[in-house]
Amino acid sequence: MIDIKTVGVIGAGQMGAGIAQVAAMSGFKCFLWDANRAALEKGMEGIKAQLKKMVEKEKISAEQSSQTLANLTPAKALSEYAACDMVVEAIIENLDIKLKVFAELDSILPANSLLTSNTSSISITRLAAGTKRPDKVMGAHFMNPVPVMKLVELIRGLQTSDETYAAVKAASEKMGKTTVLAVDSPGFIVNRILCPMLNEAVYLVQEGVKPEDVDNGMKLGTNQPMGPLTLADFIGLDTLLYVLRILHSELGEDKYRPCPLLVKYVEAGWYGKKTGRGFYKY
Ligand code: NAD
Repeated sequence: MIDIKTVGVIGAGQMGAGIAQVAAMSGFKCFLWDANRAALEKGMEGIKAQLKKMVEKEKISAEQSSQTLANLTPAKALSEYAACDMVVEAIIENLDIKLKVFAELDSILPANSLLTSNTSSISITRLAAGTKRPDKVMGAHFMNPVPVMKLVELIRGLQTSDETYAAVKAASEKMGKTTVLAVDSPGFIVNRILCPMLNEAVYLVQEGVKPEDVDNGMKLGTNQPMGPLTLADFIGLDTLLYVLRILHSELGEDKYRPCPLLVKYVEAGWYGKKTGRGFYKY
């Protein structure tokens, strides 16, 4: 089994910066790169701010914070990834762009290195087929916010080898995460169950139930820490709609049909917390 020591993260957005932070904190040498220079700088600043907060709250020591930063290199060019045993791709959710980045990485990385994607909806089998190392490609779906959430869903494409699965599982566990193994189907495990539930909550609002009542019902009735509409606002209603559309079109069943009220909210630009208005005002 390949022993992963150096991890390369591509995409320094919400997810990529979180993954790089956790990898560097867990003792991996880590590279972070983004096609957009400003996004890379913002990602690095965000990590530094997070570490500073953790030191202030005495969650980590000042030494751990400086060791984490010493482990982390903002890359100037993708060619630096030739040093990586494993790459976690966390760029924009677009098949053509991901395929292009995978092809580029395929030509840069040593033959043994593994390629993983944090995609929420794109077929791992399809991404693997675009490379000359399909057995070394798999899905590693971290949850948002990465430093807080304990889960990584691992997704094997049709071609993923047992060795690749074992190595990515071991690396995820070294990052303090628990893994579950999903099959390569839309929504994997968590979004497949979560998104239809959130959609159902929107249907109740459309039928005239107050958002507060839906949320309190689920919080107090099923012990969920956050009501479904609060959670939908946090995830982003645009993102929720996007995932539901994928579930609907790829699985072909009416039960995944996005609620018309959700479509309207997104048309209005009411994406939830990030735009100041969703089912609640922020
Ligand atoms: P984001 O928009 O915050 O960040 C994406 C970053 O990718 C941007 O900084 C952008 O500049 C960069 N990028 C775009 N094209 C690139 C390229 N060709 N090369 C290098 N960098 C490029 O997005 P995010 O929310 O971090 O999502 C990233 C991935 O993680 C997506 O595949 C998404 O589906 C998945 N994901 C997101 C969440 C979530 O809650 N946001 C959760 C799990 C998985």
